[in-house]
Order: sequence, then structure tokens, then C-alpha cells
Amino acid sequence: MDKNFWKPIIGLEIHIELKTKSKMFCGCSADYFGKPPNTLTCPVCLGLPGALPVPNKKAIQQTIILGLALNCKISQMSKFDRKNYFYPDLPKGYQISQYDLPLAVKGELKFKVQSAKCKVRIRRVHLEEDTAKMTHLGNFTLIDFNRSGVPLVEIVTEPDFESSSQIEEFLKYLQRLVRWLGISQADMEKGQMRCEPTVNLEVIKEGRTYYTPLVELKNINSFRFVRKAIDWEIQRQLEEFKKTERVKEKGNKTTRGWDEKTGTTVLQREKEEASDYRYFPEPDIPPLTKLKVTRLPDGQESKKLKVNLPELPNQTEARFVKEYGISEYNARILTEEKKIADYFEEAVGAAKGTLEPTFIANIIINKRVDTNKVSPADLVKTLVKQQKITKIAGSDLEKIILEVLSQNQKAVEDYKKGKTNALQFLIGQVMAKTKGQANLEELKLKLPKLVK
Ligand code: ZN
Ligand code: MN
Repeated sequence: MDKNFWKPIIGLEIHIELKTKSKMFCGCSADYFGKPPNTLTCPVCLGLPGALPVPNKKAIQQTIILGLALNCKISQMSKFDRKNYFYPDLPKGYQISQYDLPLAVKGELKFKVQSAKCKVRIRRVHLEEDTAKMTHLGNFTLIDFNRSGVPLVEIVTEPDFESSSQIEEFLKYLQRLVRWLGISQADMEKGQMRCEPTVNLEVIKEGRTYYTPLVELKNINSFRFVRKAIDWEIQRQLEEFKKTERVKEKGNKTTRGWDEKTGTTVLQREKEEASDYRYFPEPDIPPLTKLKVTRLPDGQESKKLKVNLPELPNQTEARFVKEYGISEYNARILTEEKKIADYFEEAVGAAKGTLEPTFIANIIINKRVDTNKVSPADLVKTLVKQQKITKIAGSDLEKIILEVLSQNQKAVEDYKKGKTNALQFLIGQVMAKTKGQANLEELKLKLPKLVK
């Protein structure tokens, strides 16, 4: 079967734990990682009868901010619902979640995969509570309720992905976004961000289109496993289709778990349909429009909130390239964390034009400046001093570079043809001419520009 005649269709369900002080429906601390088991609990998050949940205002606000950052519409009417299922990690017998009126719907996110533009539609963003954590030890299962009731955002995308690399880039961007907004650390290995891709294939054979059965993948706790699990599952479905020509049945979804030991996905269970959860409105929490403390923003207020959102990481990244002329690669690194992006811009401001922004960017990235210890202003002071005292820089350096270039036409031509060692040669010539006194950082930056 030719690759041209089939393509993967992948959608994502992502759960992200919010970094609030307290849990979703009680006053217990939500900062549970590494704490002694079952020390952060109360009747509400233990699911004891009669305990009443009170929604966490901060968690609702953070979910609204995330919804806006994902270009969603914020619902003006929202409520919590009970999702009923029976499992020991949920002693109430249900999870408080959101069913038909999620906090945010119909968004989209644009991102790049190796400079190719992708767009993914966001179906919904809703808020729910995390469950207790179970640890299986041989014949025993241990249960820790510290995680029970931690605020959990669920993001559901439309099935717009076609490859595991798109998924990986999307998840990395989402992680960067929630960290940037300060709402989660979203560390996959710590379980703060979990994703469940739903995978099937569209196959065109002899002019007819087939869809293979839907499979939801679980147990994925790193970016690397996301790629491996999806790639393996795509191949498995392709092989299965070749053998059986089995196609998707309505409402039927199978769950398979990623097994790192064997590098395969393993059948877990046939999926219940949504109706099996017997969703119904949570009677102990009034609809959010009726709650004073958690009043939802109306259309006007949503617009205002959106305007007041901080610049998002991809916007900052693009602006750094445009405004400061730094490379896309460096812009990406500088916008990995908001703290670093802000640091860079403060340093550029402090330099008041005496240092090239590209130079400052290179120093921050390559010299691994300790941004906690050195202030942007101090960094600039040190750099300016270094340039003045010991090194040939600025227009003096440019003059020497131009001399060296005109005396080494062969190397210049080689460099233009893409031979990178010619660049090293030219840098060496300038260093020789200046008896090692040229400012190397500046030289490395300026020389390639002056070649053109
Ligand atoms: Zn509690
Ligand atoms: Mn969920």
C-alpha cells in the first residue's frame, strides 16, 4: 500500500494540573508532590458522605485565562457535573467534572513544526478534579489521596493532527504556554501533564475511503513516549487493516496502553460510551453564573480580559526576530521561559544601543548567564567594560574584518557556497591580525554579516 493512500487522523485529550494553593473543592494544599502519603486530606477530598464541595475561584480564573490564550470562546453559562464511575481512586463513585457546558469552547492554536505552519482546533477546555494516585506493588495496591481533588484542566482538540511530530510540537507549545501564564509546571514525568491521543487511519483503496477503528492511547508520560506510542500504533493499524480490512464502528473506541518495556501498545479495554458515565448536574454546586465569587465574564469582559492577556510565547518569539534581528533559533530559546524573555529585553533596554541585541542574546544563551544572580543592568555594565578595556570592538573591529575579507577572497567564496570551515578560517585571520585582541563574540556575529 502506497503511503500516498493513507493518513493518520489524531486527536488529543490533555489533562493539566493547575498550580493553585488549595485543591479544587476544599481547603487542602494542592502542592502534593513528594509529600508523605495521605497527609493532605479532609472529608471533602476523601469523598466522605455529607461533605460539601466549594469551587476554587483561582482555578476557574486560570482556566478562563487558558481558554482565552487558546482563542476559545468563554462560556457565559457553565456548571459542574458528576461523571459516575466505580474505581478505588474515586471513593465518591463519581468525579466532579463538566459535561455539556464547559468553561471554554471552540478555540484554535497555530504552531510550527520545522517551520511548517500547523493549525489545530480546540474543541473544549473544562475543569475537573484529579483522582487519588494508585501504586501497584505485586499483590498490593497502595492509594494516596493527596492528589485527590487537585484542580485539573482538560483540553480536548479536534482530530486535526496527522503525525506524531505535530503532536510533540503542540504539546511542547502547550507546556510552554501554561508555564508562561504561570498556571502549571506541566511536568509530564511528574504527571502534571498527561495526554491521551486518539488514533485511527484514513485509507483510500481502489477509490473507496475506509476509516480504521478508533484507539485511545494511555500511559504516556514523556514527549519521547508520545512519539513512539503514536508511531507504533499507526503501523499496527496499517498492518491490521491490510490483514482484516476492519473499519471503525460508531461509538466504539478501544483503549491501548503504551508499554515501554516492549515498545508496543497493549490492549486494555473496550471503551465505555459517554452515556455509560450517567452524567448529571452536580447538585451541591450551583451553576457558575449564579455564584457571586466565581461569576463568569460576559462577552464584553471576555474581550477585555483577552486584550489584557500577556503577550504569548509564540508572539514574543516572532517579535524578537522582527524587532531585534535575532535568529529564530535563539528567539525560541529566549522565549522558553517568560523570566528569560523579560531578562533579555531588560538587558537590551539597559544597553541603550551600546550593545547589539543579537550580541546580548548570544551571551545570555551561550555563556549561560545566571539570571537569578546577575541583574540585566549589571550584565550590560560588565559587557560594555570588557569591550572597552581589553578588546578591539565596534567600528575598529569592522574595519579589520573588511580588510581580512578583501585579502581572502577564496575563503569568502567558499563560505558563500556553504563551507562552514571557511568561516572559522576567516575568524582565525582576524584574530591573528589583532594579535588575539578582537572581541570574539562580536567578531562571530559581525563577520558573517559583513560577508554579504
Ligand atoms: Zn481536602
Ligand atoms: Mn478528564
